[in-house]
Formats: sequence, structure tokens, C-alpha cells
Amino acid sequence: MSEHKIAMVGTPCEIMAASKLQYYTDSPIDVKLGLFCMENFSYKYFGNLLKEYDLKMDDIEKFQIDKGFVFLLLKTKETVKIPLSVAKRIIRKNCNICVELTSETSDISIGSIGSDEGWSTLIVRTKKGEEIVDGALKQNFIEAKDLTESQFKLLNRLAANKTNRNLETIEEREFFARPVLYQRDKSDDSINKEISESDFLDLKSNVIDVGACVLCGACEYVCPDNLIAIDDTKPRMKGKCPEDCHACFTVCPRTFIPEDLRNDNSKAIGEYIKILSVKSVRHTQGQDGSIVTTLLDYLLTNNIVTEALIVDKEDHLAWKPYAKITKDIDEVVKSGGTKYSVCPVFKPLRNLEEGVE
Ligand SMILES: Cc1cc2nc3c(=O)[nH]c(=O)nc-3n(C[C@H](O)[C@H](O)[C@H](O)COP(=O)(O)OP(=O)(O)OC[C@H]3O[C@@H](n4cnc5c(N)ncnc54)[C@H](O)[C@@H]3O)c2cc1C
Ligand code: SF4
Ligand code: SF4
Ligand code: SF4
Repeated sequence: MSEHKIAMVGTPCEIMAASKLQYYTDSPIDVKLGLFCMENFSYKYFGNLLKEYDLKMDDIEKFQIDKGFVFLLLKTKETVKIPLSVAKRIIRKNCNICVELTSETSDISIGSIGSDEGWSTLIVRTKKGEEIVDGALKQNFIEAKDLTESQFKLLNRLAANKTNRNLETIEEREFFARPVLYQRDKSDDSINKEISESDFLDLKSNVIDVGACVLCGACEYVCPDNLIAIDDTKPRMKGKCPEDCHACFTVCPRTFIPEDLRNDNSKAIGEYIKILSVKSVRHTQGQDGSIVTTLLDYLLTNNIVTEALIVDKEDHLAWKPYAKITKDIDEVVKSGGTKYSVCPVFKPLRNLEEGVE
């Protein structure tokens, strides 16, 4: 058993990778705070798109996606809006075959859809998630109210739209390319057989080379021989795999999903215990209701977890995300706000286990 108990935050694909890590390995991840996520962008191409508007990343105070637009709130306090139909061309290719909006395998899911401005929609999924939310309410870290019926319907409609739209893309893609493995309904026995015959080369041909990699970094993290390195675009492998290793293929969120973790595409927002509209009582710098920041504060303050795995911004490259592990609540607060591009979130776990600061 790991001596660490980590609360992580991530997009649905990253949360699925965390769930597979928990399922197949002795994972230090204890609490999963999953974000809603409709799409994500390439950092490099986002920078190029901004040039068309005479802007650069450093000009931007906050990004917000709403009602078909990417809103750029500038440091000058002006707002520029880019239609999503224009931003579409810089959406990461893997996001077009992603059928999950609300992080269905998390303990608690959080997003803005369905709540008023300054509030977040929170979905409690597990017993552990319920205890955390109840505790945070009781200790006055957060306040809550019910979603109205129309807010609840909106959330379900947008989630179903994403699933259905991208299921169609999957069908089109599979017509002339390889099957999208994470959508295969296989029995656990047959998944185990596939895994026992697979290594990095299978990951490369089935996930990485076909534009399905979400760049989560789980493969790099689990490689026992340190053979995988992830740059800004994709994981690469150097060396020769031992014959009996299948770890990277096993934990990747875009290879086969075991029966217990598989989402039911007919349930728009997955299985859950309750849904609330929530807002922080302690923090204000977050993206919506500052709920992720506040739940992490609650978990660290009460020693329920030992560290938080968060995504902050590079100091020298505006809005460039990078993952880090911290016990420091000030660092959690600083990392608030959404960065609309990816980074390998599991990278810092490797250093933690190797004892590197
Ligand atoms: C790529 C992306 C797309 C999203 N799309 C939607 C959407 O379509 N609809 C919707 O309702 N909500 C979406 N969200 C979630 C939303 O933007 C807020 O993150 C969420 O509502 C929580 O707000 P908050 O104020 O509670 O979070 P905060 O208190 O601001 O905390 C945000 C946390 O998110 C983490 N984070 C920031 N950027 C990333 C990243 N790129 N990857 C992983 N973790 C990150 C940080 O570690 C921080 O702890 C998206 C989030 C991301 C990262
Ligand atoms: S694949 Fe893209 S759309 Fe899906 S959860 Fe990951 S970042 Fe979001
Ligand atoms: S050694 Fe194992 S985890 Fe590493 S690349 Fe090879 S198969 Fe993947
Ligand atoms: S190939 Fe590696 S980085 Fe890409 S999705 Fe799979 S585990 Fe994540």
C-alpha cells in the first residue's frame, strides 16, 4: 500500500486513466475530482489562433467557454469572443472520439453547465465523494442549493449531445481506420487475454498513431523500465520492452476498459448519488464556483489526503499547463482556473515515488 493518499483533479479521460491505475495497480490516488469537459485544445495551435486576433496568451486573464463561444477576458478588462465554429479546427483530434462529458468514474464531478454564473454543478458519485461533500458543507467550506429542473435537463441534453455526436464520429472513423478500443464491449477475460499479448507497439498503433492519445502520461508513469518519454505531442519509446510487460497498454484510458469501469452511453451523465449547485464560502479565484480549489483545501486541511495533484500554469509560458503535487493550500489556490490545453497529469507521481522533489 502506498504511504501517499492523493486527491487528483482531471478531465474525464484523465479520470478514466486514474480509475484504471486504481483498478490494475497499487495507486496512490485516493480521491478523484473529475471536471466536465466538452473539448480541449492544442496549446501551440491556440497560440496561432490568437495571432489572427492580434493577441497572445500573455494578454489573457481568463478563458471561458459558453454558448458557442470561447470568451477571452483580457488583462485590459476587454472581452474578445471567438466562435467555437472557428476554434473547432484547433480542438485535439482525440477529443472528437470522446463520448464522456462529466467524468463518470470520479468520486465527485464538477463543471459549470447547469449552474448560475459563479456557481458550479457538482455530481456526487461515490460514498467517499458523499462523505467529502457532506463534510465540506458541515464545516462551511462550501454552500449548496438544488439545480432547477431546466438546469438539470440542460446538463443531460448537452452530455447526451456530446456522446451521440462523437459516437457518430467513432462510427465514421472505424469505417476506414482501426477500432476505437475504449468503446469495445469485451468481457474482462477477453480483455485480459488482449492485454497479455500487448506492449508499447500495440499502444502506438492502436492509440498514439491514430490520434486517440489524450496525452495523460499514465503510460510514462507506469513503465517499470522508464522507456517512455512524453513531449508536447505524443509518447515515444526508446529501448526494448521486456517480454512480460504490458503495463502501458493496460492503464491507457484509450485501450480496453474493464467491465466495472465502463460507461453506459445510454445514461447521459452516468451513475450518481446526488447533484447540487455549489459555491465556495472561502475562495473566489477559481473558474466557476471555486469548488475544486475549496474541496482540495478541505481535504488537505482535514488530513483526509496527504497531497493534491493539480494542474498549474508555467511561469515563463502564459497558460501552458503543467501538473504538480503539493500539500500547500496556497499553491492549490494559485492553480485555480481552467487551462484549455493538455499536459501529462501523471508525470509528478513518478517523481513522488522516486522521492524526487
Ligand atoms: C479542458 C477543460 C474543458 C472543460 N470544459 C467544460 C465544459 O465544457 N463544461 C463545463 O461545465 N465545464 C468544463 N470544464 C470545467 C470548468 O472549466 C471548471 O474547471 C470547473 O467548473 C471547476 O470550476 P471551479 O471554479 O470549481 O474550479 P477551480 O477552483 O478554478 O479549480 C480548477 C482546477 O482545475 C484544474 N485544471 C485546470 N486546468 C486543467 C487542465 N487542463 N487539466 C486538468 N486539470 C486542470 C486545476 O488543477 C484546478 O485545481 C472544463 C475544464 C477543462 C480543464
Ligand atoms: S478526450 Fe478531450 S474532450 Fe474528452 S475528456 Fe479528454 S480532454 Fe476532454
Ligand atoms: S516496458 Fe512495459 S510499460 Fe514500458 S514501454 Fe514496454 S510494455 Fe510499455
Ligand atoms: S498513450 Fe499514454 S499518454 Fe496517451 S492516452 Fe494512452 S496512457 Fe495516456
